[in-house]
Amino acid sequence: MQEYRDIVVIAGIPGVGKTTVVEEAVKKLKTYKIVNFGDVMFEIAKSEGLVKHRDDMRKLSPETQKKIQRHAAKKIAGMAADSNIIVDTHISIKTPKGYLPGLPLWVLEELEPTKIVIIDATAEEIFLRRKRDNTRRRDDESLESIKFHQRYNIYLAASYSMVSGATVSIVYNKEGKILEAVKELTSILEQD
Ligand code: ATP
Ligand code: AMP
Ligand code: MG
Repeated sequence: MQEYRDIVVIAGIPGVGKTTVVEEAVKKLKTYKIVNFGDVMFEIAKSEGLVKHRDDMRKLSPETQKKIQRHAAKKIAGMAADSNIIVDTHISIKTPKGYLPGLPLWVLEELEPTKIVIIDATAEEIFLRRKRDNTRRRDDESLESIKFHQRYNIYLAASYSMVSGATVSIVYNKEGKILEAVKELTSILEQD
């Protein structure tokens, strides 16, 4: 019989530091493999000639994004056959047409996550991290808009928890304190 494998979702708004914290955490948590949902979507979108840059995907039509999202979710669920997986992704994606759910029902049904961990920081910290990081083309957003997105994500995470049974936790990634966030995340992931 196949052993049960665990899928944990790590989410948070762009530039909060998810990828940085998660990559550091798996150095300690050797039993988990990271899958970046955006990487999987980008591979699909590139192969279909839809975008050249990962930060252009959220500008595609919502229908196209959802099609790629569904495809990516199936691929990621397949990867969980032989490993515990941390999925680095988003609770919602701010698109020109409105907030797109990162984990709509069909994604939750594919992934069946046991835990959803939101990485958070103050809006001011997030604003400055986006400004300093020129490896990405993140949206220029006001502090008010960042705060709204943070609040919206908490509500949406509660609804994901309702339908999937996943627990929801928040880890604060304070300025210059990546290792503290890593410690908190690893302790959540080490709990059965
Ligand atoms: P996205 O959703 O766009 O992929 P992300 O949440 O994965 O964003 P990262 O790429 O990990 O964000 O981090 C964004 C920037 O913030 C990077 O330049 C990173 O070095 C920096 N950063 C991350 N955590 C901290 C921290 N605790 N203090 C200061 N800078 C940080
Ligand atoms: P990231 O590097 O995490 O910002 O991911 C790159 C891009 O992938 C995001 O800006 C979104 O356009 C897309 N993406 C990531 N996760 C999801 C998801 N769960 N649903 C829809 N789009 C996603
Ligand atoms: Mg990232």
